[in-house]
Amino acid sequence: MKRYVILGGGYGGLAIISRLLEGELPSDVQLVLVDRMPYQGLKTEYYALAAGTVSDMDIRVSFPDDPRVHLHYGNVQSIDLDGQIVHFTDGDALAYDHLVIGLGCTDKYHGIPGAEQFGNSIQSLASTRRTYQLLNDIRPYGHVSIVGGGLSGVEMAAELRESRPDLNIRILDRGSRVLSAFPEKLSHFVSGWFLEHHIELRSFVNVSHLEDGVIYNRKEDIEEEILSDVTVWTAGIQPVAPVQQLQVAKDPQGRVIINEYHHIPEYPNVFVVGDCASLPFSPSAQAAGAQGEQIADVIRARWNGETPRLGKIKLKGVLGALGKKSGFGVVGKRAVVGYVPRVIKSGVLWMSKNHFG
Ligand SMILES: Cc1cc2nc3c(=O)[nH]c(=O)nc-3n(C[C@H](O)[C@H](O)[C@H](O)COP(=O)(O)OP(=O)(O)OC[C@H]3O[C@@H](n4cnc5c(N)ncnc54)[C@H](O)[C@@H]3O)c2cc1C
Repeated sequence: MKRYVILGGGYGGLAIISRLLEGELPSDVQLVLVDRMPYQGLKTEYYALAAGTVSDMDIRVSFPDDPRVHLHYGNVQSIDLDGQIVHFTDGDALAYDHLVIGLGCTDKYHGIPGAEQFGNSIQSLASTRRTYQLLNDIRPYGHVSIVGGGLSGVEMAAELRESRPDLNIRILDRGSRVLSAFPEKLSHFVSGWFLEHHIELRSFVNVSHLEDGVIYNRKEDIEEEILSDVTVWTAGIQPVAPVQQLQVAKDPQGRVIINEYHHIPEYPNVFVVGDCASLPFSPSAQAAGAQGEQIADVIRARWNGETPRLGKIKLKGVLGALGKKSGFGVVGKRAVVGYVPRVIKSGVLWMSKNHFG
């Protein structure tokens, strides 16, 4: 038997499995899906879970119920690429012949003291649940700071406004505008929406350290104190710890360098998918899914003794939510704002939820 172990049942890992299950599996192939959770958590919706506008159940997707897929639950601690074995935190281990690493990403704190301790995360389901609890327990009219004005920080702030009209919400960003990776038109639209909904935007904030209830903003020699009942950290990501430990070539974001067939060049039996992989795009669910489908095609081509023929991955765009009634995004090359991108985003979510029927 040849054991294909897929680490991570997220957007990337499940796209591979889903595509492989569309056809016959060779009789000597065993597919094993490994995750620490018994379902997929739809990460693109974690901001809504943290805000309390959707329930936990609403953002879970069942893993495939197919006799050809073995489910192995455990928390991956490390991966021994030469020994071809995965180690789990409980001491368990799993040998593989072929591996896919699709464990996603975690927060990056840039060495800022106190950021990990006092900056609350929306990068894993467990950490998002803790953030939900803190945000929803804040005293009336309390202060929430969101550090980082990228897509997840913006969505987090807007959704929290919907959930808690009383709170003082602010976004702290080190740049001149929120959504700096997006066209300026979108930043203007979102800034206007925030003004209208009483969300404060603070630009050029240089967070130097965090303490309980305080964020320090260093300006030259002065440390401004920004009081914050709860701080949410959306100021950077990096691949999860087992990938950080891998001694292979990485890009400046810590993502594993792969070749045109999506495997580590020195390890043809080890593919890397999604947020762990160095792709020519920003990490996204869409990129993870599209890449996952190509990895499945490479695996199937190898089974058939063929050379894989892969096209260029083309992404359709990015969509963001401003609460439940407005949104923004780039569709193709067009910047779109308002109700239409919000409706499209809901449609995309519906498709993610119904992936396995
Ligand atoms: C708030 C927010 C909003 C976002 N919005 C969008 C959006 O609108 N559009 C978009 O395209 N992208 C969006 N993203 C990014 C998107 O969610 C990720 O790029 C995508 O989830 C990456 O897919 P993946 O398969 O690499 O990892 P994931 O989907 O994160 O899956 C990783 C899996 O690995 C498991 N895992 C992790 N570590 C371990 C371990 N040690 N042991 C065992 N299992 C483990 C996890 O449980 C999880 O099931 C958003 C992200 C956030 C946080």
